Amino acid sequence: MFNKRDHTRLICDVGEIAGLFHDAPSMEEFLQKITAMVTRHMECEVCSIYLYYADEKELVLKATKGLNSVSVNQVRMKIGEGLTGLALKEKRPICEGQAKGNPNFRFFPGIGEEKYESFLAVPILRGSIEIGVMVIQSQKKDYFSSEDVQVFRAITAQLAATIETARLLITLDDQRAIVSATLPADLKFIIGRCGAEGVACARTVVVNESLTDMKQFEMVDGSQYSEKDLHTALEKTEQQLEGLQARIESVFKDVTALIFTAQILMLKDKGFIGSVFSLIRDGLNPPQAVIQVVQGYVTKFSMIEDAYLREKIYDVKDVGRRLLENLTGLSASDYDYQDKIAIARELFPSDVLKLFSQKVKGIILLSGGVTSHVAILVRSLNIPLVITNELALLSLEPTTEVLLDAFMGHIHINPDASIKTKILQREELNRNIGSLKRMIQDHPRTKDGIAVKLMANINLLGDLKAANEFKAEGIGLYRTEFPFMIRSNFPSEEEQYLIYQRLVEGMPGKDITIRTLDIGGDKVLTYSGYGREENPFLGLRSIRFSLKHTDVFIAQLRAILRAGEGRRVGILFPMISSLDEFLDAKKIVQECMAQLKIEGKKFIDNPHLGIMVELPSVVEIIDDMAREVDFFSIGTNDLTQYMLGVDRTNDSVAQMYLPHHPAVLRALKKVVDAGLRYGRDVSICGDMAHDPKYLGLLLGLGIRTLSMDARYLPRIHESLGQLSILECEQLAREVLSQSQISRITQILEHAHHAV
Ligand code: PEP
Ligand code: MG
Repeated sequence: MFNKRDHTRLICDVGEIAGLFHDAPSMEEFLQKITAMVTRHMECEVCSIYLYYADEKELVLKATKGLNSVSVNQVRMKIGEGLTGLALKEKRPICEGQAKGNPNFRFFPGIGEEKYESFLAVPILRGSIEIGVMVIQSQKKDYFSSEDVQVFRAITAQLAATIETARLLITLDDQRAIVSATLPADLKFIIGRCGAEGVACARTVVVNESLTDMKQFEMVDGSQYSEKDLHTALEKTEQQLEGLQARIESVFKDVTALIFTAQILMLKDKGFIGSVFSLIRDGLNPPQAVIQVVQGYVTKFSMIEDAYLREKIYDVKDVGRRLLENLTGLSASDYDYQDKIAIARELFPSDVLKLFSQKVKGIILLSGGVTSHVAILVRSLNIPLVITNELALLSLEPTTEVLLDAFMGHIHINPDASIKTKILQREELNRNIGSLKRMIQDHPRTKDGIAVKLMANINLLGDLKAANEFKAEGIGLYRTEFPFMIRSNFPSEEEQYLIYQRLVEGMPGKDITIRTLDIGGDKVLTYSGYGREENPFLGLRSIRFSLKHTDVFIAQLRAILRAGEGRRVGILFPMISSLDEFLDAKKIVQECMAQLKIEGKKFIDNPHLGIMVELPSVVEIIDDMAREVDFFSIGTNDLTQYMLGVDRTNDSVAQMYLPHHPAVLRALKKVVDAGLRYGRDVSICGDMAHDPKYLGLLLGLGIRTLSMDARYLPRIHESLGQLSILECEQLAREVLSQSQISRITQILEHAHHAV
């Protein structure tokens, strides 16, 4: 058996998986290579991959190392049939030390399984969607330990998305084509909203839509290219994609997402590339053949109902385009995102990573809001982002020059020279991080000496650098959903443990608050497979999801508890609406601790347990909550949304999304007072915490801990030193006595300018 260190290395080694694409001329052979890799790592004799075909409700053996290869495509079983079918039916690993003795064992003559005693089957799942089953076997009895089960689960989870793409490519059928078009419009200047601060001036490219346009390649005289040129182009394309994947891996150690491997897979697919070559043999020239096959695939993918799989349409277009570019040498200037401003109707986190990896200069997004998680991710990556509803931007001529002033939320189309110089000079100033650091006080205090704890919100581990540079006094909120959103499957306990461990190590000696999974609403996991909700903000969001899917919750809690060992780590439950929910969550934490103890694992046995105050219902029962919880963290983004009934992501009601509405402010006061009465810490971690306009008011209400994206720390440090608590308290009293929003707006503006 191998030791634990090997296990850990394997789980993180995405590079090795990506390497499997080399010399794998078909999907079947790619799967075959996976089986060989797994037997090597798990030190066993057999590894088999069964894919699940939902239409036939059947598992089919698709690749095996160790069993008789003629059984491939022959061995089929229903869900629930045999130990393999049982693993899929019950969505859990089945581990048998002496499998033949198990009444559920299903014997297939000729497969060559007789000599194998130990058997371990793990379902391959994307969320709750069944992709197949991976099985390992050994001749030795009782060979697989419980640790092996964990590791094999982690490997399977890591491979799930890739295997799913392989399955899709294996099973696609021919269908009809679609074409789309957009109308041009005359645009000069657009006022949108700032999603992520910054300035960019560059030519534009419309994401995705532009990729459907193969016209420039259709006009090329394709007869000048040979099959050999196509082979060279294929090689070059593959190298480029591997380079992109490597870049992502080097930047995002915590998300190890196989973003570009789906595209590499397509290049390897017999169906895809084989069709190109067979069209060439039928008389088409290479560019024509590529265009025809890509369009055929676009059609097939667009017929798929599952929105997540349909998204792979962009991968096909993307890879087709890249291949044509490498074949013809024609630089598709409207395709490459490098140094461009990307205009997108909609983006998923993986798209954001792709754009980032291609060094996009700025993004214009035509949907979502500034507090949506795509916006938060873009902010973490320091890409300027403006959000607007102006759909006509999609019709901008490719390569139009645009100046994105994301500080102001402004989009200048074909800007004149003077505007350009002014804005770019201002940006130059803003980039001066050295001077920003000078705004940081060692011990942040008000003018009259009252200490205020300024902490950082962390979305990606990369945010830790700025948090430390700007002397954050800990992490007030770690949004754990990012590693979940960026990858295409639930990360295993082991993977999460490694991420949380790096988080904790990245802030030595300081308090850390880790929030459990907060998905739903604008934070969609494309793979969770629980269907679209009519009203996702009021649906199976956050803690509701965790309490329903306790397997996901338990894996996360165990990972947090283990990573928190020896440190001051708090666990924060999002979107709690009742005491019952908190107590249910607390009970599961206690059960996890009891189980970890039995397993002899190290963990933090006194984690602080707190709740996000985000719902009006909790404000009403705040005293009852204060008796039970260790701390409150006020999520003003959601609290504002739910108190005022204003969608935080909807641009057309943005003017009503006002955290200084008297109802919200009175709610804050109630929470602060309850915290004081019961000796519970109260902090604010919503966007209100980083707005200097609100700082005095929040201090006056009694808030002494604020947590914000690290980039905002310098200006809050600076503002803090200009305020005195007595004046802040006076301001809070005055504001709380008002009943009109307009009046509060005036008072706050006046107070802000007076400082
Ligand atoms: C909030 O709602 O204010 C908050 C901090 O949580 P998130 O923005 O992640 O929903
Ligand atoms: Mg929230």
